[in-house]
Amino acid sequence: MIRITDILDRINIYHPEADLDLVERAYVYSARIHEGQVRLSGEPYLSHPLEVAGLLTQLKLDTVSVAAGLLHDALEDTSATAEELTGMFGPQVTRIVEGVTKLSSLSFRSSEARQAESFRKMILAMADDIRVILTKLCDRLHNMRTLQFQTEHKQVRIAQETLDIYAPIANRLGISWIKNELEDISFLYLHPHKYREIEKQVARKREEQQEYIDTIKEVIQEKMTASHLNCEVQGRHKHFYGIYQKMVAQQVAFEDVYDILGFRIILETVQQCYEALGVIHSIWKPIPKRFKDHIGIPKANMYQSLHTTVVGPFGERVEIQIRTRDMDRVAKDGIAAHWQYKEGRSFDEEDSQVFAWLRKLVEEQKYVKDPNEFMETVRIELFPDEVYVFTPRGDVLSLPRGATPVDFAYAIHSEVGNQCMGAKVNGRMVPLKYELKTGQRVEVITSPNHRPSKDWLNFVKTAKARSRIRQHIKAEERKQSLELGRELCDKAFRKHHLSLSKQMKTAGFQKAIEDLGYKTAEDLIAGVGYGKVTPLQIVRYFAARGELEEPKEGLVHKLKGRMRRTRPKSGILVKGVDNILVRYGKCCNPLPGEPVTGYITRGQGITVHRVNCPHALNMDPARRIELQWAPETDELYPVRIHILCHDKMGLLAGITGAISDLEANILDASVKTGADQKAECYFTIAVSGAQHLDKVMKSVKKIKNVIAVSRIEG
Ligand code: MN
Repeated sequence: MIRITDILDRINIYHPEADLDLVERAYVYSARIHEGQVRLSGEPYLSHPLEVAGLLTQLKLDTVSVAAGLLHDALEDTSATAEELTGMFGPQVTRIVEGVTKLSSLSFRSSEARQAESFRKMILAMADDIRVILTKLCDRLHNMRTLQFQTEHKQVRIAQETLDIYAPIANRLGISWIKNELEDISFLYLHPHKYREIEKQVARKREEQQEYIDTIKEVIQEKMTASHLNCEVQGRHKHFYGIYQKMVAQQVAFEDVYDILGFRIILETVQQCYEALGVIHSIWKPIPKRFKDHIGIPKANMYQSLHTTVVGPFGERVEIQIRTRDMDRVAKDGIAAHWQYKEGRSFDEEDSQVFAWLRKLVEEQKYVKDPNEFMETVRIELFPDEVYVFTPRGDVLSLPRGATPVDFAYAIHSEVGNQCMGAKVNGRMVPLKYELKTGQRVEVITSPNHRPSKDWLNFVKTAKARSRIRQHIKAEERKQSLELGRELCDKAFRKHHLSLSKQMKTAGFQKAIEDLGYKTAEDLIAGVGYGKVTPLQIVRYFAARGELEEPKEGLVHKLKGRMRRTRPKSGILVKGVDNILVRYGKCCNPLPGEPVTGYITRGQGITVHRVNCPHALNMDPARRIELQWAPETDELYPVRIHILCHDKMGLLAGITGAISDLEANILDASVKTGADQKAECYFTIAVSGAQHLDKVMKSVKKIKNVIAVSRIEG
């Protein structure tokens, strides 16, 4: 049990001038009125208000909040009255205690109408003084920590309510440590088996992971120091409920949740954060589209951080968050961070911006009389990252923000998704990549012959849709390569007067399968179709040696044979040859749309240069080859740009924001500040082509205080 002296000590540390007398008097009074009462645990009742007050000091809240925490059950469980409290502790403490008492009587499990009414009251209490809900959250957290003393029935009811109402509120207010603990304890009581399973797995992995965490931390620390960046590196485990949610959302086993571990780099300034990002991307390759700039664009709950996922030293995915110390405080304590150290100030003086959503809700509730409609508004505000849409039968589906009719179709059923060929929203046809909004009625049009398209992967938002589409494409590709492989083998065998179907049954074929690293005949044949094995490699097992001389053809043809084995993916077309291995000259970083030329390098395929690249001009004309860009590719190309700007606060965030808004990945960034108040930024970004680069540069140029943007040539 925490002691009052511990609480006073803590306040003294974060707020040395605080009015400790108020807290001490509240303690003495609380001890008197709760005297003789015991908790279900057998402890004296006073332990509960003390723990709640202790949690409030963990949020570094003012003495009014801490005093209110000590007194929060006074009106409900003792003979004390509001008048007495006001007389002794002032109106603010009393208001908070009254607010918490009111919240405790709300029911969130009854009919829609009463539930809506409960939410309405809660929101009004929150808007009246945010400290009411902070105290309530601490009260709930301590009650959850001692839930083992309740009956089983109550445990489940309270855990469910916590998961439905209080954890989302903690999340909405940005208080991540309270949210995580509330979720984990609720998870324990609602799904004890799943909880224990994850607990066991995490414990089993802990030792080996500790070594891994230390290695990664060391590498990061070393590179940061080399770049003169002073930082703190933290490695952490995701909380159990977070892991469970990933497993459910991505429909994967524990082993396949890759981001159980995460790393955090804490620095001093925003500029250092972007520099650190550049350093990270220079050590490990970033995974495209996983970079999120929540510094430039903070989350609705004020959270700020740079997020990136990179391919780590062992080929694994590593999630890294980069932020300043201030941002780290907000990430942990959320709204409470804004309240910290601000003794005696009432809500909504300065932070009104922060509470805009809350005020909107308060306004809303005056006009929205229909409880269902009001609940809808509450849900949108509490779960800002979700949209709620209706099926034609009126059922509600919740989807992540940005979800499309394809996500909707897969959420209904995998087959509906696979056969989805069109969609209607509120009765009107929309494109499949249409972004759904809350309240819309969605109808999917299916056709039994319709099949998923690879393009869908570019816009779907749910893991289910993504994995089902991939599955389907894989199956389809395998079918095609099997057909193609069979055809190619057939031809090659016939050319040597052999029959594929006969040879397939022989021991020789079995040997070929094993030698070439496959498991079944079908796998091997499909391998031919994928271009990983040539038919000749198989025929070799059956034909006489003399017949097997490779035909002597030109260099390009030889390359063609070799390159077939590599995966076709480049955006370059070589006249007369397809699927050839190409590399892009590091000297000039050519982009699709620009005139290019190629240079044949033995054993390495073709290197592509821009026609005016000095290297290209110097090449041996005999090895030159004419090239064209394929009409469309989804490849990305790195290019370096230089930005000269005035050194202004927030400018860097604006620039990276503009770059990522246009879906260009930032691979590397560095900033130099000159004595003349100007900054030179160097970015390496990945773009899809010359047009894309042009767009990005134009958009950056438009930003205020940016003086010049140029591509770095050669
Ligand atoms: Mn309580």
